Amino acid sequence: MSIMLHGIGVSRGIGIGNAYVLYREQPEVQEFLIDEDQVEEEIQRYIRAKDSALRELSAIKERIDTKTPAEIIAFIDTHLLMIDDPVLNTGVIQHIKQHRNAEWALQIQCQRLIAVFNNMQDDYLKTRKDDIYHVVRSIQLCLGDENPQQQQLGDALKGRVIVADDLTPADTLLMKHQKIAGFITEYGGPLSHTAILARSLGIPALVGVHKARQLINANEQIVLDGKRGMLIIAPDTRSLKHFKALKRQEQQRKADLKRLANQPAVTQDQQTITLHGNIDRPQDVKSLRRIDETGVGLYRTEMFFISNGSAPDEDQQFHEYRKTVKALKGNPLTIRTLDLGADKEMKDTQQHGPLAHNPAMGLRAIRRCLKQPESFIMQLKAILRASAYGPIRMMIPMLTNHSEIDQILLLIKQAKAELDLKKQPYDNNIPVGAMIEVPAAALAADTFAERLDFLSIGTNDLIQYTLALDRLDDEVSYLYDPLHPSVLRLIDMTLQAGRNAGIPVSMCGEMASDATYTRLLLGLGLKYFSVPATALLEIKSIIINADISNLENDTRQILNLHHHFDITRAVNLLNSNNHQEQLKLHG
Ligand code: PEP
Ligand code: MG
Repeated sequence: MSIMLHGIGVSRGIGIGNAYVLYREQPEVQEFLIDEDQVEEEIQRYIRAKDSALRELSAIKERIDTKTPAEIIAFIDTHLLMIDDPVLNTGVIQHIKQHRNAEWALQIQCQRLIAVFNNMQDDYLKTRKDDIYHVVRSIQLCLGDENPQQQQLGDALKGRVIVADDLTPADTLLMKHQKIAGFITEYGGPLSHTAILARSLGIPALVGVHKARQLINANEQIVLDGKRGMLIIAPDTRSLKHFKALKRQEQQRKADLKRLANQPAVTQDQQTITLHGNIDRPQDVKSLRRIDETGVGLYRTEMFFISNGSAPDEDQQFHEYRKTVKALKGNPLTIRTLDLGADKEMKDTQQHGPLAHNPAMGLRAIRRCLKQPESFIMQLKAILRASAYGPIRMMIPMLTNHSEIDQILLLIKQAKAELDLKKQPYDNNIPVGAMIEVPAAALAADTFAERLDFLSIGTNDLIQYTLALDRLDDEVSYLYDPLHPSVLRLIDMTLQAGRNAGIPVSMCGEMASDATYTRLLLGLGLKYFSVPATALLEIKSIIINADISNLENDTRQILNLHHHFDITRAVNLLNSNNHQEQLKLHG
């Protein structure tokens, strides 16, 4: 029977594939079919793993202190009994006989037992399902120790729809090259870095699908629609046909847009708009250039730190940045200094002990860098050294006050002096700019614009901080509203500040890559968009069809509206003209 579920669509596109349900509290479970002649050996492998889990736990029990409370000993005894439980073990062996590998067989049996516990009326017994997870985990670990057929997780994920509680940006980066069909998470907001990565990788994704892992079984066929925010478990033939047709239409649209590759982004009234890409790693330059040979308006350097697991040294960073700027072949590269914190952490810096109450408002981004000036100066030197190999701009995230600018400029001076001593070349006029992500910075943008070479509006954080909504929390994602009058006014103020000071202002947050807002932003005077490569041609198609002089008046009117309903209607109207223009041009 088909079941439809809803979630928050965070990355458009249709994904069709079999489910790969991730239980991060358990080791990764490999799923593959074995041949008939391997069944007996697989059963023996399972029995060996189960016996060694039993031995390990018995050894723990023998070692424990005589003063250990009786409940703990009883707890271990329960687990010992469960490891040897015939319902668990005969079930696993039955699944192996159906040609499933031992890990997969154990996983299926675990899910069956959990389902039985979930249906129990007794609340105490319900909570005992945690014991099953622990016991299964201990056997899975032993299986992992002696698995001769261990495949790379990557192969196992190919073409699958990943179903997880939540994914970190590091998980998503790992999946990057594994050609997954899409992912569904139980938690997470539309502006989490995981969601942003999904969009930039063109992976259809849904977040906030509560209980997804209880409702979706491993290997079930899934259709997910990232635009409409829904998924179907075990779709019937009619729905499958419908979604396959939608997927083909999407692919056709992408193919049509390819005609705009490497065309200048010039509007109908001959205004040239800068349209750059957002990247996370040097290898993304290749994907960007396949779409459009343009520059980079946001290089999130923390992704290198995260995937590395610990902070790379100055030379490692220098090589990474040099590789990136060289790959751009003369196009400009905007390197954002480290923006760690909140949902972006390295293994090394993960907090232990009490967590900050509001990590998004805590020691994040430039605040953290200024707390650790030795590490920050290392990054500044690496960026400066790379600037000898191509046009680089340096961009500071989460700037909030002038004393931060004082410290940054001083540290850049110090970094330059250290490079001078070693006679290492760099661009002495490297532009230094900042992201406008905090309402305080937008309100004081005129004063910042006097001291900096450029500004870039980070709408993801600007919206988070202006509307007081945690970008990672799906419970408040309904508050996310780029059209909120306060957000529009802050954007307008920042653009105005840039014009008055004669410095460029770009936008690199997700709002810049959502086609719904392109004409509005053009009307407000935005001349520089930086978007994920996957959105670049779509945005270009709107830019080249727009006549900014026709948009300005209507856009100013929108700034005077207060109610979400009126603003949305006015923006739709602004965009429907666009539709007519497009018909005119392409018709
Ligand atoms: C932003 O906040 O809009 C932005 C581009 O930075 P990040 O999403 O990496 O926080
Ligand atoms: Mg940000």
